[in-house]
Amino acid sequence: MAQHDDQSPSQSSIGKISVIHGPMFSGKTEELLRRVRRAKIARKKVQLFKPAIDNRYHATQVLPHYLANAADESVQVGEAAHVVRQAREILPLVATATDVVAIEEAQFLDAALFNTVRRLSRSGKDVILSLLDQDYRRLPFPIAGSSRNVGDYLAIAHESLKLAAICVVCGDEAHHSQKLQLKNITRDGKPIYAPASFFSEVVTVGTSQEIAQTKLFTERLREFPENIYEARCRNCHIVADES
Ligand SMILES: [Zn+2]
Repeated sequence: MAQHDDQSPSQSSIGKISVIHGPMFSGKTEELLRRVRRAKIARKKVQLFKPAIDNRYHATQVLPHYLANAADESVQVGEAAHVVRQAREILPLVATATDVVAIEEAQFLDAALFNTVRRLSRSGKDVILSLLDQDYRRLPFPIAGSSRNVGDYLAIAHESLKLAAICVVCGDEAHHSQKLQLKNITRDGKPIYAPASFFSEVVTVGTSQEIAQTKLFTERLREFPENIYEARCRNCHIVADES
């Protein structure tokens, strides 16, 4: 063994960066929460963060999708989370004693998250990110306000886990999120959805679905969401106007 006088931190003082990624409905949240619970069993101190945009199910708890309808303030089925609007809010909220920092829906946070993750790791804290890796066009999910995409987090990770969903059309493994847009409504009141155009917007920070939903054509259509998403395999995934 070579002798050296390296004064840099020992290997054990560097926190492990893990990324859980995949399409919508692939169980990323369940996997993140599973790891959080295991860390707690190991008596590690864990802090959970989520971006403010992810308010589909519950404002301050991270809930697996299958529990969305069971969301109840009085039932602590999820894990309490800090809700942040910008990545720079995270570091001041992390306690010195914290061992693990878990961040849900990390694709919605701005590019400052990149250095935040590196600094947390350097200070000895394990970091777990769950993120959507592709947008509805099957392109790496862009990070708002920058030229980066979420592939940068995979590049600096020590470990990553890619999860697949199930294609709702054919039942194969699904790696893509199909975006469907409300196009019309039938005489008997059923909404008609069709694959979104390549040129329709990607939901990033500041362009939430809630904003998009205000652009509904008529009062009658208002009862349906303008966009819906489902998991699909590559064969069944359609992007309209794709070149
Ligand atoms: Zn399919």
